[in-house]
Amino acid sequence: MAGGALPLTSAQTRSLRRELLRWYDAHRRELPWRRDRDFYRVWVSEIMLQQTRVAAVLEHYARFLRRFPTLESLAAAREASVLAMWSGLGYYHRARRMHAAAKVIVRERHGEFPQTAEQWLALPGIGRYTAAAIASIAFDEPVAVVDGNVERVLQRLTGNAGDAWEQAQALLDRKRPGDFNQAMMELGATICTPRAPQCLLCPVISFCKTRGAHYTAVTAPRKNKELCYALVRRGDAVLLVRRPADASLMAGMWELPPLAAEQINGHAPLLRLRHSITDSDYRVTVFVIAPDQRPEPAVAARWFTVPQCERLPLTGLTRKILRRAALQAQVGHSTPS
Ligand code: SF4
Repeated sequence: MAGGALPLTSAQTRSLRRELLRWYDAHRRELPWRRDRDFYRVWVSEIMLQQTRVAAVLEHYARFLRRFPTLESLAAAREASVLAMWSGLGYYHRARRMHAAAKVIVRERHGEFPQTAEQWLALPGIGRYTAAAIASIAFDEPVAVVDGNVERVLQRLTGNAGDAWEQAQALLDRKRPGDFNQAMMELGATICTPRAPQCLLCPVISFCKTRGAHYTAVTAPRKNKELCYALVRRGDAVLLVRRPADASLMAGMWELPPLAAEQINGHAPLLRLRHSITDSDYRVTVFVIAPDQRPEPAVAARWFTVPQCERLPLTGLTRKILRRAALQAQVGHSTPS
């Protein structure tokens, strides 16, 4: 047995590592943060990837790095600018904490990045998974990571629900820890998927105790909600309200004024769209309201032009609505009467 944590002999464990890394070298997805091991870029990608799909991160990663190409540029930025670049990625506390951590690294560590998982853990916004991911990928520290994908792969591979961190550490390839960790996550994301694992394509099928037959926890059903917003325009400016600083979600971000059901009467919808975050799916309706008919907002409201909106920390939904509304206006103008 390999250290007692895995139902594999030491020889089997070595073979499994070899097969998994061979598969990863041949099949890994080309992702921009895998092109080099720049500490700053690895860090940014790991924070963005927390609870977020790779496709969504790809949209924001390049834009964020163009605006903040270095640790120093991020540390020197205003929080509102950082949130504006994060707009649409959700979980805005990640951006705030990363910004705070950049300041700590510049001011207290003279710009020197931590090199071990333990040192990373001392920074704002860094938990066990992220610390291990950055330390192994950027600094070759032999520490295993466990995220939802890795946990599922381990449960299926071993056929038991033992301590995933202990099992992952026993399985880790100590010569290529960063690649091995990414290979485990990649296997879970692309082959050993939650609903339909593709065992016939799996590089470690010969070591797997369950071959897809293992129980996978059922996720809680998603919540469906309805939201209504007012689009209030004055010239080329639009009215936005700021979410309270103590809001549990998207605190301090700007959005269109929300509308209650009784405020909709008599107004025709401009557009309808769907929006999803974490565990909720929203059906959103937007109404055009004249400035003199707008409901009195409960929180601070201000007018912003389109260029100003581009630089604001908007909620992802508001950015989406403004883009759709602008597109709709363009189509309307170009349609012959
Ligand atoms: Fe997952 Fe199937 Fe591979 Fe086992 S054989 S690790 S269940 S994909």
